[in-house]
Amino acid sequence: MKKIKKLNTTRPAFWFFCQQENFWVLDNDQLPKESLKTLAVNFDENSSKYLLGYHLGLPCILVDLQNQSIDLPQGEWRGLRDCMLQSDDVLSALLGRAWQVANFVRTHKFCGQCGEKMLTIAWEVAAQCRNCGHRAYPRISPAVIMAVVKDGQILLGKNKRNKGEIYSVLAGFVEVGETLEQTVAREVKEEAGINIKNIRYFSSQPWPFPHNIMVGYIADYDSGEIVVDTNELIDADWYSADNLPDIPGEHTIARKLINEALSLK
Ligand SMILES: [Zn+2]
Repeated sequence: MKKIKKLNTTRPAFWFFCQQENFWVLDNDQLPKESLKTLAVNFDENSSKYLLGYHLGLPCILVDLQNQSIDLPQGEWRGLRDCMLQSDDVLSALLGRAWQVANFVRTHKFCGQCGEKMLTIAWEVAAQCRNCGHRAYPRISPAVIMAVVKDGQILLGKNKRNKGEIYSVLAGFVEVGETLEQTVAREVKEEAGINIKNIRYFSSQPWPFPHNIMVGYIADYDSGEIVVDTNELIDADWYSADNLPDIPGEHTIARKLINEALSLK
């Protein structure tokens, strides 16, 4: 991630203006994509600026305004979660990456080992201490999310943290020393009292809140009756395709797992 000292004002680019945890998104659900000159936006020139990479042949430039408020000539500030749940997968992925870089830079100004200033590395997303050489990379914390299937039905739970009446597949964080498959089996046993078998990989989704990656699995029911862990869940039960409760939106790996497990679509 290359730090930019002075921006080229005439070269078109994709602009990732980040204010607190929000990004500037245009009304057509796209990022600003033109030169700084035609964009006509005023901001503090001393704001942190980084080249994130290239998309469709154009540079992707992060301008981290932090708490600075600016007048937007068009569009609006959108929260990352809102964008990820409502926008297309490409915009979600771009914004998720930009946010993780912004968050990394904000939280790695000083060395965790000796306290000196950190410098960002141009050729990878990393920061290095100019005194002791300690190098830091963005943290990525794995979590597993799994669909458990039994006779054409899927295990869905209502999490205490979820708003509204959404039911979803179970999920949990990987603990030190665990394989991902062990986490899948442990979480299902802990949260719903069920033993599972045939744990197989499905797909994954970066989940930048703030730095997770959700790794999806499908598994078959083996034995046991549902016993809900009331610390985590309000309710859990088996559901078939024709009696589904409210489930997560299309852009989430949870929804893709449910669709796959029940052969929807
Ligand atoms: Zn150091």
